[in-house]
Amino acid sequence: MRVFVAGLITETNTFAPWPTGLRGFSEEGPFRGDATTRGRDSEMGVMACGWRDLCRARGFEFVEGLFAFAQPSGRTVQSVYEDFRGEILADLRDRGPFDMVLLFLHGAMASQDCDDCEGDILARVREVVGPDVAVGAELDPHCHLTPLMAEKATAIVLMKEYPHTDYLERGCELFDICAGAAQKTLKPVSHLFDCRMVGFYPTTTEPMRSLVEKMKAAEQRPGVLSVSFGHGFPWGDTPETGSKVLVIADGDAGLAGKVAAGIGHAIYDLRRELLPRFPKTVEAISIARESNGCVVLADTADNAGGGAPSDNVSLLKAMLDAGIRNAVFGGVWDPVAVRICAEAGLGATLALRIGGKCGPASGEPLDVRATVMAFRADHDQQGLGPARSAMGDSVWVDVEGIAVVLMSTRTQIFAPDAFTGLGIDLKEHRIIALKSSWHFQALFGPMADQLVAVSTPGAIQMDFAAIAYRKKRDLDYFPRKPDPLGRG
Ligand SMILES: [Zn+2]
Repeated sequence: MRVFVAGLITETNTFAPWPTGLRGFSEEGPFRGDATTRGRDSEMGVMACGWRDLCRARGFEFVEGLFAFAQPSGRTVQSVYEDFRGEILADLRDRGPFDMVLLFLHGAMASQDCDDCEGDILARVREVVGPDVAVGAELDPHCHLTPLMAEKATAIVLMKEYPHTDYLERGCELFDICAGAAQKTLKPVSHLFDCRMVGFYPTTTEPMRSLVEKMKAAEQRPGVLSVSFGHGFPWGDTPETGSKVLVIADGDAGLAGKVAAGIGHAIYDLRRELLPRFPKTVEAISIARESNGCVVLADTADNAGGGAPSDNVSLLKAMLDAGIRNAVFGGVWDPVAVRICAEAGLGATLALRIGGKCGPASGEPLDVRATVMAFRADHDQQGLGPARSAMGDSVWVDVEGIAVVLMSTRTQIFAPDAFTGLGIDLKEHRIIALKSSWHFQALFGPMADQLVAVSTPGAIQMDFAAIAYRKKRDLDYFPRKPDPLGRG
């Protein structure tokens, strides 16, 4: 049994003003056959190692191709997309034949000329390997789950958790289903159910927590191989954008359809409860003030992980205006300010313009007196699972008692060591304001008394009825329409 693995991952915010190009894909990799060695600290490397270990355990031959990742932003430059796609296809042609192909993809990648890169990749892979080879894809739940993807893949498995702490587990499940298909012990058939919703579905809180458990329970039914919920990526405007359920059954299309509709309806019937209700900035600051413990405020609308610039400082300004001290704020993507601070040197106090640089979603910059407290070259933080996440050259500046972290590589904040790695003692701060939508919950949850996702100004606001779609096919979705499936 010969197994080929590869990965191409970015989430495209089609409303983001700048394209995703080679520089974006060069911050972490790209890895060409060495994700399992040179890149093993990245999520791609963790997944590639997971698949390699499963191959070793079963005596399969493991062949590793390209693994490339870019932080979410606008559409991928067409030639960059085509070159990466071409590399994967050339490997399949030149190093084959293979019995099984496993791809680590996102599912919401769009290039300048293609709204469904993953569907396109799977269709071309299928063309190269033919109808009998098992082709599997692991996708992020923030994917668009298109009929083309479902048709061309043997099996698609999505991460179930948001924060996405389960990518390795789900990748192993995908391996098992595809191995079964390649060895002809399983016959995966998929059914896609369209919930006709656009939304945001963290799984650490209700009602999503119970819905994930319901999905896992459905997987215990005889003949059901996998149940996935594609949350969708609201800020990717493509014909297929929206929330969908994908069920894989063993040879029984009727069962796959029945289970998909059952889970889809269960999610749909809770659609009103599932709408995010986050406090706005001023309210969130008073919640933090009134708390006796340590409160994390998440600047949800300026999350780099959703394609936002991560240089909007309106929450920082509101905190300063409210007289908040003894707090931290970060990470602001501002390589210019980092460079100025590094040049000024440790202990220097200077006039510094922070943030507000990338476009209208960045808001206004903030002019402050800042003292340079620490500098760290190639700073990084714990990512999801065992992976690390690069922050680039970073500084801690003190602004009127608020410890502000500025970074050179655009990323969201996943872990406390984004701050402590620069020498900031989080135990001495009552408010930790950070740029993330929900992934922060995994590692800040255990240390904080309260986690507050804040409805801030920025690129990825959660008014789903107001997103200016031009390509999305179905505009009669919830919450634009109260009951698109007519279930009352
Ligand atoms: Zn995601």
